[in-house]
Amino acid sequence: MSVGVLALQGDFREHAALLRGLGAEVELVRRPEELDRISGLVIPGGESSVMDKLARAFGLAEPLRAGIQAGLPVFGTCAGLIMLADTVLDAIRGQESLGGLDIAVRRNAFGSQTASFETDLDVPVLGADPVHAVFIRAPVVETVGPRARALAGLADGRCVAVEQGNLLGTSFHPEITGEHRFHQYFLGTVARVGFRG
Ligand code: GLN
Repeated sequence: MSVGVLALQGDFREHAALLRGLGAEVELVRRPEELDRISGLVIPGGESSVMDKLARAFGLAEPLRAGIQAGLPVFGTCAGLIMLADTVLDAIRGQESLGGLDIAVRRNAFGSQTASFETDLDVPVLGADPVHAVFIRAPVVETVGPRARALAGLADGRCVAVEQGNLLGTSFHPEITGEHRFHQYFLGTVARVGFRG
């Protein structure tokens, strides 16, 4: 069973290192045929509009959509969360997402790069210890539709982590803070689902 990390753009190396540290076999995914070998996929942080363009240019967007529809477990962080959202607010012109999560996300919801910040979050599904979360030009989940559920929110109540079936997404970057519980949780989903297992 190997886990893919979409390696078109963004901080895919950090995700790959974290997953390998947890004992997972990792495949960097850049071509459609590489999707046939994976049981789960991580979509990293980066720039969603660029990732979207590259995914379409590399012929990955449609196979990714099909995989998501077929039940491939996918975990997206930041730009990856945007890629998984059914609705993207403040998208750049022509930007598309893959969809799958019944949510509306707003890109760059906290302002520009300088408005990046860190905070501790309660994430009950990961246990009692708070998650230290880094937000970098991060999106916020403005609407959580009936098929999705919020996993964590900021002190002001805004949602920043969601789950829906085999899909998981965070506005922040657990891959750069040494926080491994989201990835472990995701690997649990991957093992349970046994996609192409
Ligand atoms: N602002 C970026 C976007 O719209 C996301 C930033 C990130 O992934 N850290 O894709």
